[in-house]
Amino acid sequence: MLTWDDYNQEDSMAATAAPEPAVVAAAAAAQEVVTAPEPAVAEPAPAEPSPEAMQAAEEVIANMDASAGVEELEMGASRLSVDEKAMINCRADLNQLVPFKYDWAWQKYLDGCANHWMPQEINMTADVATWKSSDGLSEDERRIVMRSLGYFSTADSLVANNLVLGIYRLITNPECRQYLLRQAFEEAIHTHAYQYCIESLGMDEGEIFNMYREVPSVAKKAAWSISHTHELSDPNFSTGTIEADQQLLRNLIGFYAVTEGIFFYCGFTQILSMGRRNKMTGVAEQFQYILRDESMHLNFGIDVINQIKLENPQLWQTDMQEWARAMVLEGTELEIAYARDTMPRGVLGMNANMMEEYLQFIANRRLAQIGLSEQFPGAKNPFPWMSEIMDLKKEKNFFETRVTDYQTGGALTWD
Ligand code: FE
Repeated sequence: MLTWDDYNQEDSMAATAAPEPAVVAAAAAAQEVVTAPEPAVAEPAPAEPSPEAMQAAEEVIANMDASAGVEELEMGASRLSVDEKAMINCRADLNQLVPFKYDWAWQKYLDGCANHWMPQEINMTADVATWKSSDGLSEDERRIVMRSLGYFSTADSLVANNLVLGIYRLITNPECRQYLLRQAFEEAIHTHAYQYCIESLGMDEGEIFNMYREVPSVAKKAAWSISHTHELSDPNFSTGTIEADQQLLRNLIGFYAVTEGIFFYCGFTQILSMGRRNKMTGVAEQFQYILRDESMHLNFGIDVINQIKLENPQLWQTDMQEWARAMVLEGTELEIAYARDTMPRGVLGMNANMMEEYLQFIANRRLAQIGLSEQFPGAKNPFPWMSEIMDLKKEKNFFETRVTDYQTGGALTWD
């Protein structure tokens, strides 16, 4: 077992053993200057670099830019103009946040920060008592809690990995990347929240975190999402051709419109319904904060998708539209199957048929949001109270008008 002395000892050893980075750089530069003209000569390197080599090394250090490592830094290039900025395949300097081209992206970043919350702020005491009591919840209600935590505990990690390992690199706009960084942290908070619930309730972590590989209705959703990120997470994948740009667009639709826009809604509705009935109110409050964040993720993603379509109309041809429509319909089917698996009977004032209509209502909205025609004519929202929590028609206004309600952990209500 290490002690503080061990750490101090390691520090002091490191101090004598490892030269400063600048010294390494200077030595490397000096070595390069000395040996570069005749690299094949087998003579031993001189013990001391020549004065000329040392002077050359000093010049390298003196001229070294603080942003070393940034690719293709072009000194003295003309200053960035808004017109050079683009959502994908942009060649302008990505290190300059301003001037903004997409004010909505910056606004969402600000709104996301204003909504900051942490899972430990929410009191879970009543939930623990309910969960451990033999008659606190019915078997069907317990199933819903388990399945929800099972799906979401890995789903937000999938989203975060897709963001960081796939999307971030390919969205070539600084204000959108600023939001993506915020979103990535929110996904981490969500995964933390699920872990916090699982730990608080004393659940079997292995059972919950493996549900996405062991329970078919959960696994099918996770597998669908993963299938839309394979290509993007390949470090060699790059945009710039119609095919590759469409692949990125498919990934964005798959993760924003379907994973975050459809796959989250059955579970959210079930848990929030539980909260409205004064059961598992801590878990429900966690989910309510998450839903608020997710609603903004969704709206941001829809804006990005539509902006890419606007800037690259060649990508949004009939085949791509058909593909997008099919993705939304596939996602809706999987979510309906999940609803049937998690609600074999009526529970919490809802049943699988009502959830099916709700998901069709949501699917219509997702299709309309990306410019496609509705596929479920007349589908209504059987859960109008969900609209009070997150008004689907006024998603953007919801946060602007109620943002102060969320500055403290206890401000949410179940009215
Ligand atoms: Fe999200």
